[in-house]
Order: sequence, then structure tokens, then C-alpha cells
Amino acid sequence: MTVSPAGAPRESTRPSLRLVPDATQPRRRVIVIGGGIAGLTAAHTLVTESQELFDITLLEGSAELGGKLTVSEVAGVPVDEGAESLLAVRPEAVSLVREVGLERDLVDPITTKPYLWLKDGLRPMPPSVMGVPTDLRALAAARVLPNRSLLKLPLEYRRRATRFENDVSVGAFVESRLGRDVVDNMVEPLLGGVYAGRADALSLEATVPALFRELQDENSLLRAAQRTARGGSRRAGARRGPVFAGIRGGVGRLPGAVADELRLYGVDICTNTSVRSVHRVDDVWRVIVNRGEGQEVFTAEDMVLAVPPHVASGLLAHICPPAANDLGLIDMSSVAVVTLAYRAADVAPMSGSGFLVPQIAGRTIKAANFASSKWNWIARAAGTRQQRDDALVLIRASVGRIGEEEALERPDRDLVSDVHADVAAAVGIATPPVDFRVTRWPDALPQYATGHVRRVDRIRASLAGIEGLEICGAAFDGVGVAAVIGSARTAARQLLARSGAASATAG
Ligand SMILES: Cc1cc2nc3c(=O)[nH]c(=O)nc-3n(C[C@H](O)[C@H](O)[C@H](O)COP(=O)(O)OP(=O)(O)OC[C@H]3O[C@@H](n4cnc5c(N)ncnc54)[C@H](O)[C@@H]3O)c2cc1C
Repeated sequence: MTVSPAGAPRESTRPSLRLVPDATQPRRRVIVIGGGIAGLTAAHTLVTESQELFDITLLEGSAELGGKLTVSEVAGVPVDEGAESLLAVRPEAVSLVREVGLERDLVDPITTKPYLWLKDGLRPMPPSVMGVPTDLRALAAARVLPNRSLLKLPLEYRRRATRFENDVSVGAFVESRLGRDVVDNMVEPLLGGVYAGRADALSLEATVPALFRELQDENSLLRAAQRTARGGSRRAGARRGPVFAGIRGGVGRLPGAVADELRLYGVDICTNTSVRSVHRVDDVWRVIVNRGEGQEVFTAEDMVLAVPPHVASGLLAHICPPAANDLGLIDMSSVAVVTLAYRAADVAPMSGSGFLVPQIAGRTIKAANFASSKWNWIARAAGTRQQRDDALVLIRASVGRIGEEEALERPDRDLVSDVHADVAAAVGIATPPVDFRVTRWPDALPQYATGHVRRVDRIRASLAGIEGLEICGAAFDGVGVAAVIGSARTAARQLLARSGAASATAG
């Protein structure tokens, strides 16, 4: 049992009534900066796991909460604009969904079978750990590698162990063991999809930590990948069923549900409130914001920073220069999601959940997701489930890897035309889309470059010396929504532990 902010015991973490704080008790003030899923989760953890009363203010610079989690309609069908699935083999995202009352809307995808778009068409993506094959027979059957590369792979089983004195890039390491074709055709498309990054720059240790751990006592990369896949990444408290889950109506519903609950707890949520600078004066944070026409000052004893790393770097420049410097060195990639709606009658039958595109293919798109084949709720809204005459097919294509920012600066019409050309060629569509939506995400995904784990350790060590400050978000423990929720929970729990307000049941 936990204790509610009003002091009354309750069975669940869901308040049924607005909880009116007891004005007679002194309250510690906390400012959470950033209203993406990290900031919302940090605030939620503070109110649900604390024994003490907090006066919490959440400051969000834009007009909307949720950051990369937002959903809107294309041709009358709701489709996520940013994140669209949640990793369900770790508990964080699924448990937050449950805590805010969306459990009944948690859904499995209809299919999660991805394809690779190679020169000679769509090929099934063979089983792998971030592109490192785990089944050589299935790999051969998928015909995604030239025979000369395929034949050399079994030799890797006899390789000697690697001693990792310095971090190494995924691309360099996989190439040294399995050859360039595995990097280009399998690893690069997956890393391009998740990080919008390049295999030759991204850290093996930071982007594939489970595989990296196996490699500490397994000589062969192929065998380490098999062990990683067999061991499974399912953690205690995770959901049974497929690796990924979605939310009926869109993952973009999650921020609103968290915010509704925060308001019940009396959290003050301010949108259109962009933080310009932060100062520590006499053990109190003074947070200067732009709001409306002018500036305002918020004050609090504690502060949680839940903004992208380049923003955190600017805010901490004079508070903690070493951490600000390291945060500023985390590169960010920009991406765009182009969602196209086609008349179902004009589209050849599609199988699978979508496809990934190797960078060497030289296409505009790096991935496409068959939204109306993947999620039942989209198929219903689009009429494909009921096979209506006016049914639509919804395809979400993503564009942009690190260093390709120019391609994203084209006008919407040009971008849509190029994306449509790629999608039409891959899938077989003769007519243009009946509707489209372009969502641009500038500086969206932190790049976990070689040395990232050490950099994060340094940032955390530097900030540990600053009283009343915690930091969280996609730059630290993984870019996926589940990992970001995990980092926010850790930050909030550290704040509670430091202030001695953690509830006995939290953890
Ligand atoms: C296109 C795309 C698709 C993705 N798909 C998936 C997916 O399917 N599954 C998955 O697990 N992950 C996915 N991700 C990754 C995941 O969505 C993000 O890593 C995660 O949502 C980041 O959350 P965050 O709260 O750390 O950051 P953000 O969502 O960026 O939130 C930060 C917030 O801080 C606010 N802010 C910034 N500066 C200030 C300031 N000065 N003052 C006040 N507020 C400020 C911003 O407006 C924003 O609301 C995807 C990412 C993108 C871009």
C-alpha cells in the first residue's frame, strides 16, 4: 500500500478524486523542465512514490505536452506522428500505461515481421540482434547477402576473443568479424531506424549493451548474438506476448493520460513556458522562463531536467561547465515522418509490418511502416479490416539520418513526392496518395557515439555534486520510450531518496 499526497492510505496508484493537498504541511517545491514523456514520468513518480507533499510545477516550452509522443489524423484516421510502439519486454512503459488507466487499450501488433528493401525487392529480415544474424540457415534462405559473404560467415565461430580496451563502433566491429555486407545490408538499416545514426559512429557498448556483455566472455560474435537472443531481453515485470505493444488510438495518447493524472494530484502544468536560464541562489533554484509576452521567475528547492541534451547543456553552462560540455557534445539527428494514405483498391497486397532500407540503396526513405497492416485499431478506422469499398491503406515512412539534414529542408510537396516514389516502387502502387502528413522532428534522436557510456558516467558524476538537481531523458539510458521512462523514474527516485521522501513501497 502507498500513501496518497493527502495522507490517506490507498490501494492503487490511481486517484479517483482530485487530491487536495493539506495546506498545513510544509511542502518542498520541485520544478520539472520538459513536458515530454521523461518530464511527465518524473512528475508522476514524484507524486505516486513520495510520502511527503511536493509542490510540483512542470514547465513545457511548446503548446503541447508529450514531445515525441503525439497522434493526429491523416485522411480521418488517427496515426502516431512520432513513437508508435512500446518495448514490452521491459516493464517501464507497460507499467506506466497501466498506472494511468490505459491498460485496456494496450494492444499487440497484428504482425511484427519486417522486410529489407534490397536492389532486387523486398526480402524478409532474417532473425538478428540489431542486424547481427542469429540463424545462418534463415539468413541464407532470406537471400539478403551475396554468396561470397554468406560462405565466409561460419569461419567467425573460430575467432579469438576481443579485449575491449576502448569502445568500438558497431560498424567497425561487425565488419571486422562478419564483413562489410552484413553491416551495409543488415546492421545499418536497423541502426538507421532506431537512432537515425550510422553504424560506423555508434557505440557497440551503448547501442547493443546486451550483446556487448555477452562478448565479454564469448569469443564469437555470431555465438554471442545467439546467446543474447536466447537469453531474451525480457525483464521481470514485463508483459507476456510480443516484444512490442501499442496503445489503441495511438501511443500519442499516453502523455495526455499521464497529465490528467498529474492534475488530479495538483501538479501545476504550464505549457508555452520556455525555460531560458536556471540559477542556484541560496539553495533555491530560480528558473527564468519566457511566457506570453514577457519573462517570469519560478523558484523551487529541487529541479528535474527532462529536456534534450543540447538544451540541458545550455541551461547548465554556468551551473556545471564539465557536464554542460559533455551534454553539448552529444550529436542529435533530425528526422521526418511522412504518412501517406492510399485507396486500398490501388495498393498491391502487402505482407509484414513494413520494411527497412539500407543506406547504400541511396533512397529517400530509410524505413516504412504499414500502419494499417500493423495495428488493428488503424485497420478498423481505415476500413481495411471490414474491407470497405472506401478503405484506405496508411503507410508511415521515415526520412533522415545524421548528416542528411539538407534532405529534410525541402518543401513538404517535394518530400512527399520523393517518399511516395520510393513507397510506390517498393510496394507496388500506381496512384498518388489521397492524403499525406509531414511531421518534422529537428534534433530528435541523441547519437550514442563511441565513448557514450563514459560520457554519461562523467555527466552523472559531475551533476551528483549539485544539490537538488536530477537529469533524465533519451540521452542517457536508451532512446526508446521504455528506456526514457526508466531514466525518468530513476531521476525522480534519486530526488526522493536525497530528500528522504521516498515511500517505503517505492522501488
Ligand atoms: C520519429 C520518431 C519515432 C520514434 N519511434 C519510437 C518508437 O516507436 N518506440 C520507441 O520506444 N521510441 C521511439 N522514438 C524515441 C522516443 O520517442 C523518444 O526518445 C522519447 O519520446 C524522448 O522523450 P523525452 O521526454 O526524453 O524527450 P522529448 O520527447 O524530446 O521531450 C522533451 C520536451 O522538452 C521540451 N523542451 C525543450 N526545451 C525546453 C525548454 N527550454 N523549456 C521547456 N521545455 C522545453 C520539448 O518541447 C519537449 O516537449 C521515436 C522518436 C522519433 C523522433
